[in-house]
Amino acid sequence: MIPEFKASNYDFTEYIPARNYIGGEWCDPTGADSLEIINPRFGRAMSSLRESTYADIDAAVTAAKAALPDWKEWPLRERAQVMYKARELMLRDLKELTWLVSHENGKLYSEAEPEVLKGIECVEYGCSLPNLAAGTQLEVSRGVRCEVIYEPVGVVAGVTPFNFPFMVPLWMLPQALVGGNTFVLKPSEQVPLSALKLAELFAEAGLPKGVLNLVQGGRTAVEALCDHQDIDALAFVGSTRVAKLVYGRAAATGKRALCLGGAKNHLIVVPDADLEVTAENVLASFTGCAGQRCMAAAVMVAVGDVDHILDEVSRRAEKMVAGENIGPITTRASMDRITGLIDEAERMGAKVRVDGRGANGQDGGYWVGPTIIDNVTSEMPAASVEIFGPVLSVIRVDTLEEALQLENNDPYGNASAVYTTSGDVARKVMNRVSAGMCGVNIGVPVPREPFGFGGWNDSKFGHGNITGWDGFRFWTRPRKITSKWARQKDENWMS
Ligand code: NAD
Repeated sequence: MIPEFKASNYDFTEYIPARNYIGGEWCDPTGADSLEIINPRFGRAMSSLRESTYADIDAAVTAAKAALPDWKEWPLRERAQVMYKARELMLRDLKELTWLVSHENGKLYSEAEPEVLKGIECVEYGCSLPNLAAGTQLEVSRGVRCEVIYEPVGVVAGVTPFNFPFMVPLWMLPQALVGGNTFVLKPSEQVPLSALKLAELFAEAGLPKGVLNLVQGGRTAVEALCDHQDIDALAFVGSTRVAKLVYGRAAATGKRALCLGGAKNHLIVVPDADLEVTAENVLASFTGCAGQRCMAAAVMVAVGDVDHILDEVSRRAEKMVAGENIGPITTRASMDRITGLIDEAERMGAKVRVDGRGANGQDGGYWVGPTIIDNVTSEMPAASVEIFGPVLSVIRVDTLEEALQLENNDPYGNASAVYTTSGDVARKVMNRVSAGMCGVNIGVPVPREPFGFGGWNDSKFGHGNITGWDGFRFWTRPRKITSKWARQKDENWMS
């Protein structure tokens, strides 16, 4: 399916059509429209896909439903063995996976490889589930035993965004599959290729046909998944606007739903912050993966006089070279939207102190360099809209209290961070910010496995985290069994 990997072939010449994988067979979506997938580094087509129709979705769900009775009878330990094998194969093909992620999304190899490794970390969590899901048993009354076992929810679905084509599907698959569900995955139509490889690897690892199905497409496919009566649970990761729609639509048909949305993450910098640590970390947070991360810094809240830190962040940002240490934006439309928001902030009176507009890492590609917009005020879209590019909006306040108010007023709640050398300040901020994932002197505070990933407020609809133990609980239902095998002398209300 995927052409042979050639490490030297950075110039992507192979054209890989994005196909569906249903019941263990590759097939083409039957929708009419064909969308070109453009390699964002070169601006050249590398793939195309057609939208899956309701009939395609129905075929995938039918295959998943057919595979369910057998798969859920596999002991959990045996299902986890597939994860062990998948992990081994993913490490074997690390270079190819890195190459795919980098080419379809645009991120640098040095960013794509950690993405693949973090995806593998999620698979490792899946390997550990037999130990974690051992359940509990207790003699609740004389001769009466209660036990809990985790049953699969059934046929389930996952919908993923463009920014982490390999890792985000793996936020869902290990727990869902080891939990005994059968799965229909719908990757982002902008980056459909890593998921093809994922399906191939899971098949090679021994996943039976129909347990993991892949459908390509965008809105039509997602709506069909939400509406399908035979899907029991659905997880979504993407923008807040769509997360909210999908949550409502999936729940309307009685599905269990967990939908992660967008973000506008605040980094609060106080004057006692360490210059080196803060400058390096703030820069990495807003420029990594070209700012296309839901955990990226969006707003630097400058408390009092922190100009020496801002100067250092700016100096380092100016030194960055598009194509070398910052990758392209994934689509032309995103690039235009990002530059439009910078223009607008400037028109409204903000100062663009580092300007990434017009950066060019490679002719034909979609580039925006690191951008720092100073003196952003709350009425500007740069203060509140998720820009999802390498853009840092600086909002100046006089006190920590004002900084906390500003952060608390933001409707999102994915991540927040504080930069300080004071334990008191750090603790105060950690107690007061309104975000699910918080950092002290760390600007991308991703809770690695086994700590669950998930924000608050408008960054998530539904309960619990998507990874870690919460993920397993989302994809399973606890069954409580109470048994009595011997007649007891002392009868009581449970006898
Ligand atoms: P998106 O919401 O545009 O798309 C996500 C998925 O929804 C895709 O599979 C897409 O095909 C589908 N979709 C798009 N429009 C739809 C519609 N109208 N109805 C139904 N389905 C639709 O998001 P994106 O641009 O792919 O990804 C970027 C966004 O994802 C950012 O907002 C980012 O913050 C967010 N994100 C959040 C997390 C998190 O953990 N909270 C992680 C990664 C990305």
